[in-house]
Amino acid sequence: MKTVYCIGELLIDFVAIKQGNDLSKATEFTKKAGGAPANVACTIAKLGGKSQFIGAIGNDPFGTFLLNVLKENRVDTSLVQRSKTFTTMAFVSLAEDGERGFVFSRGADKKLKYDPTLKKQLQNGIIHLGAATALLGGGLEEAYDRYLFDALTQNTFISFDPNFRKDLWKGEESTFVKKCLRFIEKSHLCKFSKEEAQLISGESDLERACNTIHEIGSPLITLTLGSEGTLVSTPKKKTIVPSIKVRAIDTTGAGDAFIGCLLYQIANIGDPHLILSDYGQLIEMVAMANKAGAITTTGYGAIPSLPDNSMVFGE
Ligand code: ATP
Repeated sequence: MKTVYCIGELLIDFVAIKQGNDLSKATEFTKKAGGAPANVACTIAKLGGKSQFIGAIGNDPFGTFLLNVLKENRVDTSLVQRSKTFTTMAFVSLAEDGERGFVFSRGADKKLKYDPTLKKQLQNGIIHLGAATALLGGGLEEAYDRYLFDALTQNTFISFDPNFRKDLWKGEESTFVKKCLRFIEKSHLCKFSKEEAQLISGESDLERACNTIHEIGSPLITLTLGSEGTLVSTPKKKTIVPSIKVRAIDTTGAGDAFIGCLLYQIANIGDPHLILSDYGQLIEMVAMANKAGAITTTGYGAIPSLPDNSMVFGE
């Protein structure tokens, strides 16, 4: 079983306790571990796989809390960096329709320093770049470029999720799209939401959007569609894999659980690049990943709601 190296941000989500979408009126918040690449690392480890998280947190109590969450979930944290800058925080409102709003206080995550020791470990392995804050600049963005380069020289299977956040890119959407292109160009697998695929491709029709993105690079796209499931796209074939029916109460982290579960399965086939050679097997894997995403929506918060192996793969 291969290790999946998940690189990016780990932060505190202060979630407004009373549902509503107005942070100016919120008075109480609960502290949760957040950060898409960290959620992916936790998913893989909770399913019984091997994952390592690479990111920077502050040398403060919030950083310690986050480190403990990763450790409790059996994620390898040996390359996590502690910075003098405070741990990154997001203040989150959750409206009744599931729409989330953010106020973002960016700290340590952008301070990540490229670590040359990772290069060797990446050989024939799997890297997951769960962008989000990484494309906002700083050491983290520089590290992303260098790890991407290392991955290309090491026959690494490259997975990319842009994790577009409206509130972080208001008025700068074209910069976001431009920054995504170099990762899409080199990735073997891209995970998009409907909005991301439409924004990046400039196409509203989802099949056309996927085809435009295939022309940029990635030969395999999983486009997650919430309760409707996932559109799997290769340049030759497209299939919508339906999700399972659940009573969803909070969709936070569903996409991370989805891609985490897919990568967990890819890490279990001898050569990850072979995922593209058996379409039938790929569709079965996506069905399992849909199940992981769906289960995650049945509880509040991302990490506490992630499924274990028997919940997804048990009879
Ligand atoms: P996020 O950014 O919140 O992590 P996302 O937009 O990336 O989410 P979604 O499409 O919401 O990802 O969810 C990922 C997968 O989880 C879907 O493809 C689907 O299989 C499953 N899923 C999500 N929401 C539901 C739901 N309400 N019912 C059943 N399955 C769901």
